[in-house]
Amino acid sequence: MSTSTDLKTVNGVAQQRRLVTDLPGPRSTELMARKQAAVASGVGTTMPVFVERAAGGIVVDVDGNHLIDLGSGIAVTTVGSSATAVVERAKAQLEAFTHTCFMVTPYDAYVEVCEALTELTPGEHAKKSALFNSGAEAVENAVKIARAHTKRDAVVVFDHAYHGRTNLTMAMTAKQMPYKHGFGPFAGEVYRAPMSYPLRDGGLSGAEAAAKAIDVIEKQVGGDQVACVVIEPIQGEGGFIVPADGFLSAIAAWCTANGVVFVADEIQAGFCRTGEWFAVQHENVVPDLITTAKGIAGGLPLAAVTGRAEIMDSVHGGGLGGTYGGNPVAAAAALGAISEMKEHDLNGRAREIEEIIKGRLEKLQAQHPAIVDIRGRGAMVAVELCKPGTLEPDADLTKAIAAGAHQAGVIVLTCGTYGNVFRFLPPLTISDELLNEAFDVLEQIMAEKA
Ligand code: PMP
Repeated sequence: MSTSTDLKTVNGVAQQRRLVTDLPGPRSTELMARKQAAVASGVGTTMPVFVERAAGGIVVDVDGNHLIDLGSGIAVTTVGSSATAVVERAKAQLEAFTHTCFMVTPYDAYVEVCEALTELTPGEHAKKSALFNSGAEAVENAVKIARAHTKRDAVVVFDHAYHGRTNLTMAMTAKQMPYKHGFGPFAGEVYRAPMSYPLRDGGLSGAEAAAKAIDVIEKQVGGDQVACVVIEPIQGEGGFIVPADGFLSAIAAWCTANGVVFVADEIQAGFCRTGEWFAVQHENVVPDLITTAKGIAGGLPLAAVTGRAEIMDSVHGGGLGGTYGGNPVAAAAALGAISEMKEHDLNGRAREIEEIIKGRLEKLQAQHPAIVDIRGRGAMVAVELCKPGTLEPDADLTKAIAAGAHQAGVIVLTCGTYGNVFRFLPPLTISDELLNEAFDVLEQIMAEKA
């Protein structure tokens, strides 16, 4: 059994790592057997533990184990799980009505979320939004809107990109296994350009990497054929790749000069995650359209496309929507999540978390040459692991350390085209003590395995 000394509670959950069984415990093992019998095997799980409760920085499993959460359900519970304002607003909405369909008889929570998006997204221009259910759906709709506006077909995306698992977004996603393998044919008119990846592109400056990408677009696609360029300002699943300074702004400027819609996919990086409302703000870039999801609604499924009113309004009436898009309970939850972010200055908290995590990682790097890069912003930070003295990805070591962390009760996620990146995405409600304890555990595991 291992315990920490932090005994604070949040929503009745002790903010303490505590293992009372081996992982998975007996109840989780039983549930995993039922999962295997009833759930399609293509739906994987990172850890074989079933959850009973979660709050602050802790996930409690059905056997009573308290795990430290460094994943936030893949960057979703930014405001913490079951945050008070999210629960209160969603509960009130559940009691009032659950669904009418905004396209049949509308309701104000939808409009209020769109007004909040107008206020929070970068740029002073007139903006409008449309709400959807998932990140992939938001990306699909951003492409539809850009095509309707420009009357062009081509979509440009980047190496290492991840935009979703639907047919169009699979085509936009770079990594073949597991996201695309066996699922073709894919949507057409999607073209891939090289990304700025400072560790692996020979150290090109942002301007140089952008010139290379623009050359590919101009020679292989044609600037006047491109409806939109879609880019994650910090790539998520691809490995938390932060492009060199000036890359995003050069791509955005090229888009403006060529009548191309610049779409920032902020689904993973948005809503306080990087210490700003949106990651593009670190580079003073103002996108034409922004896609959001994940952190927007404190754990309920909601997504949005927000952007220049004249672009958003280029779609004919009835051309956008969906039965559940902007569901009233999810919209109410989003209003609760946004109020939590403002009230608790979660952008400031993300910057504090960055300092703690990067401090701990720099210490680790000094002991372990396998850590070749520490990158990210705010509470979206990662390390890339390679064979010492090379840039050869070490996916096996990454897997072994992740397994060790999971066994010790720390939820960590890996990512990256080469499977050799650890990403840290704690809820912004995690305490410093828990965060430090999670890194004590990682330090110990690195000492054993690296
Ligand atoms: N874009 C980005 C940048 C993402 O990180 C994700 C999810 N990992 C998506 C799109 C797809 O979102 P969803 O899983 O909600 O469809």
